Amino acid sequence: MADADAECNIKVLCRFRPLNKSEIIRGDKFIPIFQGEDTVIFGGKSYVFDQVFPTNTTQEQVYNVSAKEIVKDVLRGYNGTIFAYGQTSSGKTHTMEGSLHDPKGMGIIPRISGDIFEHIFAMDENLEFHIKVSYFEIYMDKIRDLLDAQINECTCVSFTKGCTERFVTSSEEVMDVIDEGKANRHVAVTNMNEHSSRSHSIFLINIKQEHVETEQKLCGKLYLVDLAGSEKVSKTGAEGALLDEAKNINKSLSALGNVISALAEGRKSHVPYRDSKMTRILQDSLGGNCRTTMFICCSPSSYNDVETKSTLMFGQRAKTIRNTVSVNLELTAEQWKKKYEKEKLTREDVVLEHLTPGSKDAPPVPAVPEEPLLDICSPCSPCSLASSVVVHISKEERQKYEEEIRKLYKQLDDKDDEINHQSQMVEKLKEQMLDQEELLASSRGDSEKVQSELSRLQKENESAKAEVKEVLQALEELAVNYDQRSLEVEEKSVQNKLLAEELAKKMTHLLALEVELSHIQELSSHQRKRIAEILNGMMKDLGEFSTIVGNRDIKLITGVIEEEFTVARLYISKIKSEVKSMVKRCRHLENLQMECHRKMEETGRELSSCHLLIAQHEAKIRSLVEYMQNVELKKRNLEDSYDSLSEELAKLQAQELNIYSDSKVKEALEQQMESHQEAHSKQLGHLRDEINEKQKIIGELTDCNQKQQLELEQLHLDFERLRMQEHHKSRFLHERHEQSKQDLKGLEETVARELHSLHNLRKLFVRDLSTRVRKSAGLEPDDSGGYITQRQKISFLESNLEQLTKVHKQLVRDNADLRCELPKLEKRLRYTADRVKALEGALKEAKEGAMKDRHHYQQEVERIKDVMRARNPFRRPHAAQIGNTCSSPTDSVVSK
Ligand code: ADP
Ligand code: MG
Repeated sequence: MADADAECNIKVLCRFRPLNKSEIIRGDKFIPIFQGEDTVIFGGKSYVFDQVFPTNTTQEQVYNVSAKEIVKDVLRGYNGTIFAYGQTSSGKTHTMEGSLHDPKGMGIIPRISGDIFEHIFAMDENLEFHIKVSYFEIYMDKIRDLLDAQINECTCVSFTKGCTERFVTSSEEVMDVIDEGKANRHVAVTNMNEHSSRSHSIFLINIKQEHVETEQKLCGKLYLVDLAGSEKVSKTGAEGALLDEAKNINKSLSALGNVISALAEGRKSHVPYRDSKMTRILQDSLGGNCRTTMFICCSPSSYNDVETKSTLMFGQRAKTIRNTVSVNLELTAEQWKKKYEKEKLTREDVVLEHLTPGSKDAPPVPAVPEEPLLDICSPCSPCSLASSVVVHISKEERQKYEEEIRKLYKQLDDKDDEINHQSQMVEKLKEQMLDQEELLASSRGDSEKVQSELSRLQKENESAKAEVKEVLQALEELAVNYDQRSLEVEEKSVQNKLLAEELAKKMTHLLALEVELSHIQELSSHQRKRIAEILNGMMKDLGEFSTIVGNRDIKLITGVIEEEFTVARLYISKIKSEVKSMVKRCRHLENLQMECHRKMEETGRELSSCHLLIAQHEAKIRSLVEYMQNVELKKRNLEDSYDSLSEELAKLQAQELNIYSDSKVKEALEQQMESHQEAHSKQLGHLRDEINEKQKIIGELTDCNQKQQLELEQLHLDFERLRMQEHHKSRFLHERHEQSKQDLKGLEETVARELHSLHNLRKLFVRDLSTRVRKSAGLEPDDSGGYITQRQKISFLESNLEQLTKVHKQLVRDNADLRCELPKLEKRLRYTADRVKALEGALKEAKEGAMKDRHHYQQEVERIKDVMRARNPFRRPHAAQIGNTCSSPTDSVVSK
């Protein structure tokens, strides 16, 4: 009891190995960032340990920081443990063992073995040291002795007690033992790498020292543990037996994790040490009497980042564990005796120390007594060489004791198993509890959500109610609007009628015009025929004349006459061509007229269909108006009945006042009132439904109205177009008339000129003939027969001429007639144009009037509404009660 108990945290050291060849070839990223001596940033998160060794740290540096002090402590009588934790090939074995015989590359174990002896050699000569080492592995939760050539599973009952212990006196011997153990291990397994990643190997150094003079004894144990790989089963993809194996590794590692968690949370009473063999062996190292250092070995590669993170987390948790360390001081013989006597007095059962060092058949003593007596280092007891207390007992008794002890050990093991089972159960239950708590929390959250949802829904419900109220108000307004619309429709239909009448008038006018036009056409065609006939006659006469002249052989004047005739012929051909063009124009005009006629007929048809439609709509409107009136009547009746009822109520109330005491009457009255109110509410509901229906009808009617208006507009447009066309055509006709007039004038002039020239020719001819006759009479008086024939011909020519002049006169007269006709037609055209203008004006006026009436009607309706509102509060004292559903109570207040 030299040193006072001291609390200390587990020392956690983190070591990163460099990227290996295959990782470099694969191009993995180097993730860790080292910050200062104790921090590493990995994947954006920083982890703080007692020290972080970057990849280039030498084995010596690692040893100096991690193990040097522990060796001194063990020599001072403390226990110590060094773990190496990490995934496979993260550098655990490299750290713990390294290359065993290379002074530079050797790891912690060979360095410790050297160091221990150096220290011992430098210590007090009076101290006697006894150093033993054991080397074993835990595979599939079974302990296997690596120093036994047969690699048997330890038959021991109390963990490691059955394992071989080798006394060593120098570091070389320690190294030999390690070599032997490693060789044995290699013999037993086919694939060393795989095997080492699935088993924990533990190298135990046990140091006892005794002062020769004072007989003071100290003992210290040093566990050097190379743990199995911490990677997940899922990553290795193990199956079947391999999976079992992996599960087992995971089990022992998770048992270690659970122990560390429990210790980290500070619940020392329920630490599940008994979940696996390893945690049982290392019970003292974790949270017990031990200076513990844990190496967290990590790979820097991005390929292993998940495993590395979990390794770092494990280390963080381990850092919080606190151990209570004290010196393992053994009592001297004197001290023992005193204590033994004392104990004997108080207890019947005395702790029996059985001391047979090195003997295998000797029953071992429990590794960690549940209640150590006065810090006695019981784990060391089997190996203590000097017996401090000698109890003399007979052989039989001894055998009996041994038997009993064996039984007890068996029981203890059974109990251990049971406890193990129970603690596993407890862990499971705890996990379940955690799950349940999580579930509870989540369901609580859900319920909160549901409640908030509920309140939201309630709010929505209220807003919806308000909306319904608004909608009802809007409905009332719509009903009023409907009245307006129906009136508008009526007005429009009246307008439509007026327009249709006007259209009919126009149609009759147009027909009259057409008749006139056809008449004019007939006249013109007749005249054309006559002109053609006359011209033909003239041509024939001229032909005959020419033959006569040609036959007579009058050589003196033939040249002159022939010239004149050619000129006349040319003129006549000209006249012919002109007449032809006239005929063509006339035909063109006729075609145009036909087209006009067709279009007029089409518009007439359209108009009649429109008339039909309008008539239908008018009928509909009339029926609707009647219906509205009916409804209005009903409403009025209801209002009247309401008024009468309210009066009755007032009376009844008065009576009630009078007969206040008579409760029966009052009840009856109340019942009556209630029934009245119910009837009212029903009627109201009825009325609301009707309003809805009306609303629909109004919508349909407005649609109809809009359609009609559109059609009317279309008709107007068509009408306008037709008028334009008519205008255009009349202008065209006028132009044609002018042209034909001019053409006729030209013709007349040419004909007059021709006639004049013909007249001159005749005169010349007659004179010539008379002179010739006179001459021939003077010279040849017998030639009287020729003179007579000549005379006859002259008379014939003269009659011809006369005929021609007559025709000419007739043509001139016809022309004058046509001229007279023209201004009349022009006048008519002008008249129709004026009429159209007047009609347009009338239409505009009618529209304006309709607008004004509409405005006026709206005002009227507003006024009536106001009046009704003003009347309501007086006439319906209980309106608010019913009105909760159909109208807002503010209405009745405001309108006052
Ligand atoms: P583990 O025991 O965790 O499975 P090892 O110790 O066997 O891993 O290491 C795997 C490989 O990495 C070995 O070849 C080892 O030499 C190498 N190695 C581990 N740590 C280091 C380091 N710090 N420096 C150099 N090489 C290392
Ligand atoms: Mg290894």
